Amino acid sequence: MTAASSPVQTRYEAVIGIEIHCQLKTVSKMFCGCSTQIEGAAPNSHCCPVCLGLPGTLPTINKSAVEWVIATGFAIDGEVATTTRWDRKNYFYPDIPKGYQISQYQLPLVANGKLTFDTSDGPFTVRVRRAHLEEDTGRLIHEDQGGRKVSLIDFDRSGMPLMEIVTEPDIRTGEQARRYAEELRLLMRTIGASDAEMENGQMRVEANVSIRPVGQEEFGTRVEVKNMNSMRSVERAIAFEIVRQAGVIDGGGKITMETRGWDDGGQCTYHMRPKEEENDYRYFPEPDLPPLLTTPEWLAEIRSRLPELPTSRRARYQGEFGLSEYDTAVLVNEPAATALFEGALAAGAGVPAKLLANWVTGEYMRLAKGEGAIADRAVPAELAALVKLVADGAISGTNAKEVFAEHFTSGKPVAAIIESRGFRQISDSGALGAAIEQVVAANPGAVADYRSGKDAAAGFLVGQVMRATRGQANAGIVHTALRERLDKSE
Ligand SMILES: [Zn+2]
Repeated sequence: MTAASSPVQTRYEAVIGIEIHCQLKTVSKMFCGCSTQIEGAAPNSHCCPVCLGLPGTLPTINKSAVEWVIATGFAIDGEVATTTRWDRKNYFYPDIPKGYQISQYQLPLVANGKLTFDTSDGPFTVRVRRAHLEEDTGRLIHEDQGGRKVSLIDFDRSGMPLMEIVTEPDIRTGEQARRYAEELRLLMRTIGASDAEMENGQMRVEANVSIRPVGQEEFGTRVEVKNMNSMRSVERAIAFEIVRQAGVIDGGGKITMETRGWDDGGQCTYHMRPKEEENDYRYFPEPDLPPLLTTPEWLAEIRSRLPELPTSRRARYQGEFGLSEYDTAVLVNEPAATALFEGALAAGAGVPAKLLANWVTGEYMRLAKGEGAIADRAVPAELAALVKLVADGAISGTNAKEVFAEHFTSGKPVAAIIESRGFRQISDSGALGAAIEQVVAANPGAVADYRSGKDAAAGFLVGQVMRATRGQANAGIVHTALRERLDKSE
């Protein structure tokens, strides 16, 4: 085998750093009072002189945006700065009316964090170099209006609060990159800093990818990869880029510093533009804003508001409740499932956690995520009440599923649904006895089979009783009562 024909991964090591921009969940924009609710609004309906960069205006700092970055800093075990400041990032493009973005360059709010997550090769930790605040740009829309090419600008996104999170170049594979982005998205949703939907740009992932021969210290030339619009495309784009770069080097070529986009249709990266050098931005301190100081009291208050984080929750579910790795992953990775499970546990004294977990990972997830998913009106206390009835044998599992499905869409109390459907389980021997007598009389053949030693006949007869009671009998009790009846001599 020639060197070039052995797998890329055994000859080259990829070095990958990830930059993620998250739109923070604030009521107003980063430096003005404009609303952040721009989804579906008419273009340029949510902007003011500040976010349009008109002369004579001054920015003011959005406190809750700052707090979300600090909360993120605590959640990734980072250092939160006591003094930080704002810098101007200068460049000229039609989507930034000021000719600069207000950002943080030399003194980011957060530095030296880390994030640990599971991969198919076991747990992996990525160091986070920094997390800082900045404002978003406007949006350029290129259109063809009856053969005339026009460019339109929507400034509604201009000034939206963004957190930029930059890793050290610790990542080696596309899978690690995807898992890092997934874990960060979960963290954002758990602490409430961002909805982090990739599809609508609330979370944008960019990767710097280079390769070097295995064993070499020096980094190769890095290529920036953009336009990855889903977690799957993050993994695929990086995997593609590693193989592409190896092909260029194996063919005697050189990697050029450039920005490439991911083409999801073609499943490949393509050249977008040569990469600008960092010093092109001519950063300098923002003269219109004071330095930002964080007091110990303020930081302590933000830290005290943090909910339980995914890592500790996973350990608790497996350790305390004995849940499987799979159930734990489903419960922790979906904040709505986490809330339902935690709420039901808190509400339903005595309901086994494992049984509750089964209902959330099974029935709830099927309804919430299934095809034609419907609005989720599930109430934690109602789920707890239903599961308690199942555990006590007061309702059959099949009927309970129907009850939950109706509760999920209507939000109606479980007790009312059971009442209206007549789903109270028959477990008193009187009503059951009548059904058993009826089945015994109607199936003399099966009764004779059972009595001659064919035990399988009992299963058939139990099924008949369940049918006769429309599933409302307690199967365990039916079993016992039926055998007692059959074993009785005539
Ligand atoms: Zn504004």
